[in-house]
Amino acid sequence: MLPTPYYLIDKSRLLANMEKIKRLRELSGAKALLALKCFATWGVFDFMKDYMDGTTSSSLYEIKLGHEKFGGETHAYSVAYADDEIAEVLANCDKIIFNSIGQLERFSSVSEGRIRGLRVNPRVSTSDFDLADPARPFSRLGEWDPEKIEAVMDRISGFMFHNNCENADFGRFDEMLAVIEDRFGHLIARAEWVSLGGGIHFTGDDYPLERFAARLRAFSEKYGVQVYLEPGEAAITRSATLEVTVLDTLHNGKDLAIVDSSIEAHMLDLLIYRQSAKIEPDEGEHEIMICGKSCLAGDIFGTFRFPAPLKAGDRLSVQDAAGYTMVKKNWFNGVKMPAIAIRELDGTVRTVREFSYEDYKQSLS
Ligand SMILES: *Cc1c(COP(=O)(O)O)cnc(C)c1O
Repeated sequence: MLPTPYYLIDKSRLLANMEKIKRLRELSGAKALLALKCFATWGVFDFMKDYMDGTTSSSLYEIKLGHEKFGGETHAYSVAYADDEIAEVLANCDKIIFNSIGQLERFSSVSEGRIRGLRVNPRVSTSDFDLADPARPFSRLGEWDPEKIEAVMDRISGFMFHNNCENADFGRFDEMLAVIEDRFGHLIARAEWVSLGGGIHFTGDDYPLERFAARLRAFSEKYGVQVYLEPGEAAITRSATLEVTVLDTLHNGKDLAIVDSSIEAHMLDLLIYRQSAKIEPDEGEHEIMICGKSCLAGDIFGTFRFPAPLKAGDRLSVQDAAGYTMVKKNWFNGVKMPAIAIRELDGTVRTVREFSYEDYKQSLS
């Protein structure tokens, strides 16, 4: 058994998502780009690239990683490009998407002759968490005024909309796309491509994939555009676990177990969005709160049920540890960083990356 903590990516679970993406592409004609901000563990890119068209990004480093390790189409997007990075951005992408008309104008001559797009904010979204809501008041994410956008149509050939967030409801997606068509349809008709962003949970068990595909195909045919999707979470959902070991148990009115990991350092997104981690099957008579080993008082994975009391040395698997975990891990408290391992389709597990004290030291100076 590998020493814990480690993230374990299970290729057979990843494959189930990849097959749904492939099927959606075939049915709809849409292209699918992996959003690297959600998942950038390049050790499985060779496997994923047979099922997807490329990557999309939020920064120069993601652009470079997508271009180098995934290949296919590389979409560049950034909330704001800096003067000293634009040349390298352009050298590593197929399309460049600007967040504002100001940035499009600033980099207009240097990007002349390249495929350019603009992020448009339709001012509707499915996020109920202010922190992640692109349509929040005063949002800086994209242009929203059709008249202003129309004035720069001669310099762009496409648009990026990203307004879905963990949206598992096809009806809601459909309604919001209708809002987009209503406000921006006349501009979309003049474009060659449209990215509808990420946040659509189309790889979920009950998602009506066929209806979704038909809607995308109809949209694409109506306006004569190539549609892109930018799945992050949907591409890797439920494909990895965080493997940990119990270090200590105590009782303080509740049964507690401390593990050799930290939600703050290794699954930060859950803490930010105040969600519990998942440990399965979560059944049995013993209710135990699973806590991280950092000194943050609220470093708690959640409270789960177990068939027997836990003891030091027991191993636990925290589920759904692929998206927004490895890309956000950090050295808080100097807690040992989880290794990264891959379970191959034949069941063998190999460690692809380990982190040491040297890595911790080198991350600072
Ligand atoms: C975050 C993001 C994505 C991926 O979102 P998921 O919810 O992980 O699918 C795609 N495109 C853009 C522009 C994003 O900001």
